[in-house]
Amino acid sequence: MLFANSALRTASRRIVSASTRCSSRSLASASKTQTSSNEEFVRKTLPYLAAAGLAIGASTQFMEKENTECGMFGGKVEDAIKKTEDKFASYWPRNIMILFGPPGAGKGTHGPKIEEMLDIPQLSTGDMLRAAVAAQTEVGKKAQAVMKAGGLVSDDIVVGIIRDRITEEDCKFGFILDGFPRTLVQAQALDKMLAEEGACVTKVIELQVPDEVLEERICGRWIHKKSGRSFHVKFAPPKSMKTNADGTPIAESMKDDETGEALMQRPDDTSSALVKRLKGYHDETVPILSHYSPKGVVKEVNANQGMDGVWDEVLKSLSRK
Ligand code: AMP
Repeated sequence: MLFANSALRTASRRIVSASTRCSSRSLASASKTQTSSNEEFVRKTLPYLAAAGLAIGASTQFMEKENTECGMFGGKVEDAIKKTEDKFASYWPRNIMILFGPPGAGKGTHGPKIEEMLDIPQLSTGDMLRAAVAAQTEVGKKAQAVMKAGGLVSDDIVVGIIRDRITEEDCKFGFILDGFPRTLVQAQALDKMLAEEGACVTKVIELQVPDEVLEERICGRWIHKKSGRSFHVKFAPPKSMKTNADGTPIAESMKDDETGEALMQRPDDTSSALVKRLKGYHDETVPILSHYSPKGVVKEVNANQGMDGVWDEVLKSLSRK
C-alpha cells in the first residue's frame, strides 16, 4: 500500500506535465513521430496501467524516452490521464507549501525552481497586489500607499485574494505560498480554509538570512516587471549594465538579459521601507513559525550562502528521505 501511494504520487507529477504537453501539441504533428513498437507497447499495457493508475507514469516515461507524443494513441492516453488526474484532484490531499523568509531571502529566486520541479504554482501575494496596483483595481487602490511605505496590507484583503486564487484549476494538486501568510491571523485563516477540504500545510521552508545582509540584497535589486526576473547590481548584474564613476549603475543601461526591456526598482526596495518591512517580519511574521513548528512541518534552510548551496538545502528540505 505504501509503495502504491508513493508510486501514484510520482505518477501524478508526471501526469501534470504530460497533460500540459498533450494539450499544447497538435495531434496531427504527433502522429508523424509514431512508431509501431510504441503503439504495440501502449496496446498491450494501457488497460493494466489505466486500471492501476501507475500506468500513466510508466507510459509517460516511455513516451519521453522514445521522444514520442501522446496524441498518437487515439485519445486513449489523454482519457486515462484525465481520469487519473480527476481521481488525484478529488481524493488525494493537496501539497501545500509555505516559502518563508524576510524580504530578500530568495523566495522569488527559489520559488520558481520548486514550481518547475513539482509542477505546482507559486502564489506570491506581493506579485498579486502589485498587479492590482498597476491595474488600479479597488484592492490595488487600497493597498498602494501602505505597500510603498513597506507596511502590511489588511488581513481581510490578502486572505480574500488567496481564498479565490487557490480554487483555480492549476492549484488542484497543491501550491507554493510566497509572502503569505504574514501574520498569525492569516495563518489561522489559511488553516481554516484548508481544513474545510481536510487539507493542511504540508511544509514550511524557512529561508534564514541575517538582517544585515538583506539591505545590500534589497537595495541593489532590479526587476524585469513582466517576467519577475530579478537582477542585482553586484551579485547578478544584467549584461547591459554600465556604471557611473562612483560605481553606481546608470539606470538607462539596466535592461533585461532576455528581452532587452528596461528593468525597474520596486518602490519599496529602499533602505527606509526595508526598516519597516523587517520590523513587520520579526514582529508579525516570525511568530507563524511557532504556530507550525509543533506540526513538524518547518524546515530551516541557510539562505546566506551561494545560490547552489541554498538550492541543495531546499531540495533536502522538500524530500521525505
Ligand atoms: P513582497 O513582494 O512579498 O515583498 O510583498 C510586497 C508588499 O506587498 C509587502 O511589503 C506588503 O505591503 C504587501 N503584502 C504582500 N503579501 C502580504 C501579506 N500576506 N499580508 C500583508 N501584506 C502583504
